[in-house]
Amino acid sequence: MAFNPADSIQDLQFFGEFGGVNPSIEDSSTYTFLQANAMEELFETAKEGCYLYARHTNPNNKYLSDALAGMEGTEAAHCAGSGMGSISTLLMHLCSAGDHIVSSRTIYGGTYALMKNVLPRFSINTSFVNVTQLDAIEAAITPKTKVLYCETMSNPLLEITDIKAVSKIAKKHNLVLVVDNTFTPLLFSPIKLGADVVVHSLTKFINGTSDAVGGVTCGSHELIMGMMDVNSGTSMLFGPVLDGARSASMLKNLHSLPVRMERHSRNATYLAQKFQEMGLKVKYAGLESHPQHELMKSQMNKGFGFGGMLTLDVGTIEKANALMELMQNSNLGYLAVSLGFYKTLFSAPGTSTSSEIPEDEQEEMGLSPGIVRFSIGLDQDIERTFVNMKKCIESVL
Ligand code: PLP
Repeated sequence: MAFNPADSIQDLQFFGEFGGVNPSIEDSSTYTFLQANAMEELFETAKEGCYLYARHTNPNNKYLSDALAGMEGTEAAHCAGSGMGSISTLLMHLCSAGDHIVSSRTIYGGTYALMKNVLPRFSINTSFVNVTQLDAIEAAITPKTKVLYCETMSNPLLEITDIKAVSKIAKKHNLVLVVDNTFTPLLFSPIKLGADVVVHSLTKFINGTSDAVGGVTCGSHELIMGMMDVNSGTSMLFGPVLDGARSASMLKNLHSLPVRMERHSRNATYLAQKFQEMGLKVKYAGLESHPQHELMKSQMNKGFGFGGMLTLDVGTIEKANALMELMQNSNLGYLAVSLGFYKTLFSAPGTSTSSEIPEDEQEEMGLSPGIVRFSIGLDQDIERTFVNMKKCIESVL
């Protein structure tokens, strides 16, 4: 039977300390040992299932990590205090001075800035390529390349990566393929398509309530144990731990992720079709006009739709700003970065989340200043939303 990530969430069964239907919240930063020599042993061998100190891991962090490993179909996972906490510690674990990364150029601006401005200080350099051109990826690989990095659905251009094809390149050159699945949880299972490691910003769809920041790395047991190693793990030693109370609340939100993703997708599909009928420059992976629509159909999991993200190019940053202000004043959503909230969120990526990318590169990759990125909300009556959005769009264009 085909892998269904929602089943992994449905099948979770964690009891609380007193038989509660949710796991108890473990509110401790440090843990007792009954025998002194057990502590010594733990420092030397980091035994699994033993808790030492909450920066290493804590029970609620472990429950959430196990659930996300199940969702992604990996042996193990480890949560961090933010998506960037997961991404930075992973890359610092995988690469040493002198190593090289080949990355998609259309990635989250913070990841781009990490690779472009911070990692070179440790002699880890990155070549940015158009990940939809497989020969460009091959051409950028050098004997020093260790990691291939991409997003399932790129931010903010919503390009779809051919993960199966990219994973073949990674295997051929013995590289670790890391895929950021933040925009498309449940929709894609990158590990099943050949990726080695999946990262998420939990801050977005997975938590879904825009009240907390978190991240996760899902991969092999060896990778996760290595990152958590007491003496040499980047996660343990850089220390971006996710607080146990936050882990507990995110696990509860994870239970409704399948239902939420379906609704985000249904609403985004409706609006994208309507915008297209209006003759607007809309990009949505569920539209046949999207350049990788067929590719997405061939690699996505069925039943969750094409996701909640769409873009609308209104031509200029002035028009984009006017539209966003009008929509916020009409209570159609919030002018805010981030995604995966119950309410629609919109921002102009060229001047916000992707502003780290120099203007000439933005132009080359097709990131026009008039692009508005929407994370479509869970509106019950999306037809009413469209009627009101149409009024805003018509008064700005
Ligand atoms: N990856 C993607 C695709 C993102 O959109 C973001 C944040 O916007 C991140 C990673 C970073 O996550 P966080 O803000 O939780 O550190």
